[in-house]
Amino acid sequence: MREGVVFNIQRFALHDGPGIRTTVFLKGCPLRCKWCHNPEGLNPGISAGVGGTKTAEQVMREIEKETIFYDESGGGVTFSGGEPLMQPEFLGALMDECRKKDIHITLDTTGCVSPRVFASLADKADLFLYDLKIIDDAGHKKFTGASNKYALKNLETLSKKGKRVIIRFPMIPGITDTTENVTAVAAFASSLKGIRDIDVLPYHEIAQHKYRRLKMENKMEGVTPPPPERTKEVENIFESYGLNVKK
Ligand code: SF4
Repeated sequence: MREGVVFNIQRFALHDGPGIRTTVFLKGCPLRCKWCHNPEGLNPGISAGVGGTKTAEQVMREIEKETIFYDESGGGVTFSGGEPLMQPEFLGALMDECRKKDIHITLDTTGCVSPRVFASLADKADLFLYDLKIIDDAGHKKFTGASNKYALKNLETLSKKGKRVIIRFPMIPGITDTTENVTAVAAFASSLKGIRDIDVLPYHEIAQHKYRRLKMENKMEGVTPPPPERTKEVENIFESYGLNVKK
């Protein structure tokens, strides 16, 4: 399908992969993380005036506007969400077009989609930014609303394929940042051949205004970002397992 629902296209993004990038946010997510920072992207349809239907050609026109900056900076396009793999045919069409034009593709994913869908698109991406949140499945279900079974399996698939992956660990006070969970994430990540890079993303309150605007309940009301000392401790645990923490 060459048409999909997009809720934002961000130009000159600097934190969604190498170089200067255009980040395309596709709507719909299979998870409901308690701390979600993109609540406007959860619903797959066009809701509360957020999102619009676009053809692959329209999106490509936006992406190609910045080609000169990708070439100069080693950048490219990042597909994010929500979960971009929730619209596999549309995403596949966009990735095919980017490959034809030799544009570097980063996929920002939870991995929480069926292994069949995941494997059908994995080879089209150059780099994965891969969420790894909670290793205990009961805890994952409790705080994100879904099992982590596919997320762990699909990450193993990327490792076996030798794909380039940067793990993203959302550091959420009292939820993901327990020493037990951090140690379990470190042990799992370091067991995967070829995967060594991890970004620690401390919780921030930036999404608060979005919840107010969308009239959605903010389940993190009153939670403050973790202190820098705790972030350092968490980074030290990852490093003690041989992982490279991006500073
Ligand atoms: S995976 Fe991302 S977009 Fe989906 S609910 Fe969690 S934080 Fe929100």
